[in-house]
Amino acid sequence: MSDPSATTQADAAAPSPAVSGPNGGTVPGEGRTPARKIVLGVLIVLLVVAIALLIAFFATARHWFALHTGILHGGPDQYYNFWSGFGSDLGEATLISAVGIGVYTGVRKVNCHTKGCWRIGHHVLEGTPYILCRHHHPGVPTSGASHEHILEQHRKYKEAKEAREARGLS
Ligand SMILES: [Zn+2]
Repeated sequence: MSDPSATTQADAAAPSPAVSGPNGGTVPGEGRTPARKIVLGVLIVLLVVAIALLIAFFATARHWFALHTGILHGGPDQYYNFWSGFGSDLGEATLISAVGIGVYTGVRKVNCHTKGCWRIGHHVLEGTPYILCRHHHPGVPTSGASHEHILEQHRKYKEAKEAREARGLS
């Protein structure tokens, strides 16, 4: 990055259409980098190995699971300790998961469409399907405005609209 010739090369290449996607903009889903694919591949291999080990040592794993969830010992029947111990938390875990998934889905639906932005998206970007927060929308000021300033902008808009209508009628 500190190499000056590289910077000038990048500057020269920037306006060329080859840099942008087929629609003249960046394409959603292009963020899947090779590094991410490698991580995904490693995770899949680990999962397969874990399943293979589980199948190979199934009896041991089953005993371990039964022992540590409290099925093996004590109580009036075989499953008493499971349901009064580990199993009694299953309902709570389900509830917490459901609420978590609901909140996540809601946030994903209302938040800004910019990748990685968690602000609430209020502003539609005209001509695109995207809804953006005021930080990422080019037409929305990021700092607060006085009431006079807002009224002034509204007056200008009305004047321009009336002028357009007058031109259309004549
Ligand atoms: Zn945003």
